[in-house]
Amino acid sequence: MKRAVFPGSFDPITLGHVDIIERALPFFDEIVVAIGVNEAKTYMWSLEERMAFISEAFAGNSKIKVMSYKGLTAAFCKEQEATCILRGLRNTTDFTYEQTIAQANDLVNGVDTVFLMCSPQYSHISSSIVRDIARNNGDFSSLVPAPVK
Ligand code: ADP
Repeated sequence: MKRAVFPGSFDPITLGHVDIIERALPFFDEIVVAIGVNEAKTYMWSLEERMAFISEAFAGNSKIKVMSYKGLTAAFCKEQEATCILRGLRNTTDFTYEQTIAQANDLVNGVDTVFLMCSPQYSHISSSIVRDIARNNGDFSSLVPAPVK
């Protein structure tokens, strides 16, 4: 069973995340979309809401599981017997950030990371942009899947 863990805050899930998940599906038997819970962070949407958005966006797709976890992503991957971590890349800023984490996860925990380059039409989308628009009562509907709208 080839299982990947796609970790993130997903506050909220965007069309960029959906694109990465859909394009990664042919490579894996199962993708666990895993919401990392960081007690020190505050979120715009509750954990329950964020999990519901993802579950609804992929309703009927038995290859997608939605879970939450605390602590190290690599430890969660081992617990889930996942083959690798899945991450999306938008630009060199993402790359620089992801490189260190991926190398540490490999060296310290022996967990590999698989990267997919985002599709060009989604490279401007981030959860933080959606939150900024939401905070200012703007229309973010073109950036997110239907359940978030
Ligand atoms: P984190 O809080 O760990 O950065 P996010 O929920 O923001 O989590 O993102 C999770 C993953 O999705 C990361 O690998 C991030 O680079 C990727 N991602 C975010 N937005 C996009 C996008 N528009 N296109 C492709 N990948 C994206």
